[in-house]
Amino acid sequence: MGSDARRTLYYCPKCQATLNPNVKIILSARKGTRQGLVLLSPRPGEYDAIAAEELALEPGDKVEFFCPLCRADLTSRADDNLAELGYRGDRGEEGRVDFSRIFGEHATYFVSKGEVRSFGAHASHYSDANFFGEWGDV
Ligand SMILES: [Zn+2]
Repeated sequence: MGSDARRTLYYCPKCQATLNPNVKIILSARKGTRQGLVLLSPRPGEYDAIAAEELALEPGDKVEFFCPLCRADLTSRADDNLAELGYRGDRGEEGRVDFSRIFGEHATYFVSKGEVRSFGAHASHYSDANFFGEWGDV
């Protein structure tokens, strides 16, 4: 704690709460009637997600993500199959990160200052998404 000021922080676009207080990003998730917590890697391109057992996720499942604090629906405005968070990078840059809501689909997009950096084997799936559409200030 305190010695890692250079790491990337992820936060809720609505309440601004930090979602990776430790080594993982913590989100609430729902699949149908099942709910649980999901831990995601903060490292772009790493997909070693940990999902609560009660979610019983299987590859191809479309997961709804929520802020664990304010319960905001984190579904992306760029594409319904994506979820979005705010981020503050290790060089102070701010932006949004979009990632696939499909369990097992590896696609992540860091959007900052009109530029998109994509990660994951399936990143081409959403290369047509409008990442600059209706967003306000980031
Ligand atoms: Zn929130």
